[in-house]
This record gives sequence, C-alpha cells and structure tokens, in this order.
Amino acid sequence: MPKRYKFINFSQNEETLTVEYRIKNSIILLFLFRLIIPTNLCNFALLKQKKMMQLQYMSLASGSSGNCCYIGTEEYGILIDAGIGIRTIKKALKDNNIPFERIVALCITHDHADHIKAAGHLGEKMGIPVYTTTAILNGMNRNYCMNDKIYSAHREIVKEVPFMIRDMEITAFEVPHDGSDNVGYRIRYGEHTFVLATDMGHITPTAAKYLSEANYLVIEANYDATMLQNGPYPLHLKRRIVAPRGHMDNAETAEFLATTYRPELTHIFLCHLSLDNNHPQLAYKTIEGRLYNEGIRVGKDVQLITLARNHASQLYVFEK
Ligand SMILES: [Zn+2]
Ligand SMILES: [Zn+2]
Repeated sequence: MPKRYKFINFSQNEETLTVEYRIKNSIILLFLFRLIIPTNLCNFALLKQKKMMQLQYMSLASGSSGNCCYIGTEEYGILIDAGIGIRTIKKALKDNNIPFERIVALCITHDHADHIKAAGHLGEKMGIPVYTTTAILNGMNRNYCMNDKIYSAHREIVKEVPFMIRDMEITAFEVPHDGSDNVGYRIRYGEHTFVLATDMGHITPTAAKYLSEANYLVIEANYDATMLQNGPYPLHLKRRIVAPRGHMDNAETAEFLATTYRPELTHIFLCHLSLDNNHPQLAYKTIEGRLYNEGIRVGKDVQLITLARNHASQLYVFEK
C-alpha cells in the first residue's frame, strides 16, 4: 500500500537522517573535543614533561699541575679526574654552593699523575665509586703518586659501551695519548650533550665522531708550535709532546673546530694549556681567528673559554 509504504519509507528516511545527523554531530563534537580539549591537555602534559633540565659544569683545575672538573644536575654530580687535592676540590664546590656529598662518582681519563692524585682517597677512603677501564685502573695502582690504591671502589667500564650514573648516560671513547689507556667522555643528560677530551695527541675518526656531537665541548689546546720549538724543554720532551700520542697544539684544535662546527655547539672550553709553551690569549686568538675564517663568530655563534690551570672556572649552568 502506497500510503503505508510512504509512511514506512518516510520513517526510515527520518531515522536515517536522524542517525546521519547524530553521526555528523558526533564527528564534529569529537573533532572539537580532540582539537581543543585534549590538545590543551596534551600540551599541558608536554609542558610538564618538558621541564627545563639543568646541566652544570665547572673546571676546578686544568693543566699539567692538576686536572679535575665537575658535571652536575640540580640533584647530584660527578667528577672527571682528580689530579688536585681533596681540600681544593671541596673548597671549589663549596664556593659554588655544591655540597661535597652531592658527588656520586668519579670518572678517570687516564693514569697520569696530574689526573689521578686524589682518586685513591676519594674512592677507597670516601667511598666514591671510580669509573674507568681496567687498563687505566691497573696503571693508576702502579703509579707512585696515588697513595691509596683502588680496589673495591672500582667500577669497570668498556670503551664505547654506555653506562648510567643516575640519569646521566656516559660513554668513554678512545683517545690517542701516552697513558696506559686513554679515554674521553661523552655525557648525555636530557637533551644536553657534554663531551670532554683532554690529553690527546691528535683527533682520530672515533674521537671526532664523539667530539662533533657536543653542545658543550672541553678540548685540549696544549701548546703553540712555535713557542714549544723555541722553548726551554729538552728535545725528548718536545718530541713526546708533538707525537701522535702526545698533546694537541692550538692550530690543530682550531682546524678541527673550524671544520666540524655545528650551530648545536654552543660552548668550547680549551683545556690543559701549557704554562711554558702557550698563553691563554694566544690559544684563544688562534682558535677565534680560524673560526672567523669559516664565518663563525665567537661570542655570537659560539662561546669560547680558556680554562685556567690553577683555579676554578665559574659554574656554567646550561638549560634545555
Ligand atoms: Zn694531563
Ligand atoms: Zn696525560
């Protein structure tokens, strides 16, 4: 019957329309809901998650009389090398309101006296774990300069195998130098990448790979080639310094930095400057000039800092 048919048809159409209308409305509502509310919630959650993470760095001493630096977060910190006295370490930390108890680890680069003098005391007497390779540890324990030998405090590490100290991811990498074994360190913390390579004869492809990842780079600029050549050192010592497993001169460091610079590199710290064969200003000018030739402006594109031999730097605080 047409009437009935019409009625049924009308009813079906109405139902279909109602369902369609409801679906359309739901889609719009869902879209608005997803667009406005959850996005805001998401952003809020992301903002909460993306809380600025702070990485701190301070050089306590840098050079052949002693090396030690602090890398820390707002809660804890580590030392790299301990070639200066415990009292000097404590004072430098205290001057920057860093309680000594905040130190949770010591990482060692190699077994030369200017890097390890206080390591045994910090490790065995004060209970601070000492991270280094077995070859470096054996060299340290043979070294006369370390009165306290390290046994239980040792934490073995393997080059290029990352390990965690709290939420810092640390990787030791091979550098060419004349210690029993020699490493640099890359430290990742949140979005920060800190890399340190002191005492390094030249830059190998492995070292270059790590160094060029840095946001904050501590790199050696040990000597000026002319000053060393004309300086008072005996020939055998001059040869040792310029050898591929010796130290880096200003020009080599400048060349590496100028040819590998990326905008992500914001701070360059020049370390282990020689007292007799370099001047902080000469190292600074050599590197600044070479960077300038590549169109990289010190002070604008990157900060350049020479680290002092016998006193602590300021505490640098990086936020990301
Ligand atoms: Zn050294
Ligand atoms: Zn050395």
